[in-house]
Amino acid sequence: MSISRVAIYPGSFDPLTNGHTSIIARGLNMFDKVIVAVAHNVRKSSTMFTVEERVSFIEQAFPNHNVEIDTFASMLLVDYARAKGCNVILRGLRAVSDFEYELQLANMNRRLAPDIETVFMMTEEAHFYVSSSLIKEVARFGGDVRGMVPDHVVDALHQKYLDTQD
Ligand code: ADP
Repeated sequence: MSISRVAIYPGSFDPLTNGHTSIIARGLNMFDKVIVAVAHNVRKSSTMFTVEERVSFIEQAFPNHNVEIDTFASMLLVDYARAKGCNVILRGLRAVSDFEYELQLANMNRRLAPDIETVFMMTEEAHFYVSSSLIKEVARFGGDVRGMVPDHVVDALHQKYLDTQD
């Protein structure tokens, strides 16, 4: 009998970028299933896209049965992981600037739940400068973000900025 390996990939995904999709796709090479957990992050008080929109972007990119998309709020990530019966948290790393925060987070989570391991994947070269916040900044001023986010996210960004110009 083989044991199914599952990882939780948590984040804000506001919106989904090709940096995120790369981590999910590569995660599937290591895990039987990836649960993408869309957070209402208390540190990011306002998001551009609603949780439903953020979930929908991921669903459109990954209709696969081995990608589960879920949301979580107002609870510790380790408690969420336990509730899902999962002991691996997957995170992506871009630059040194990510490292310090991620190191803190991983160690805090280890302290809270020693049985849960955080696994890091280095970003692909093509995506190391891609972040959701920079994408929103570029799109706001009409910059071309194609190739950095999935096409349906490009459309949603355009629509969002058209709506705010009304
Ligand atoms: P959070 O608010 O939790 O940082 P994000 O949606 O910004 O949520 O990021 C979720 C995860 O994806 C984090 O581990 C982040 O480092 C990673 N990530 C974001 N962008 C990229 C990228 N371009 N390449 C690799 N990993 C990334």
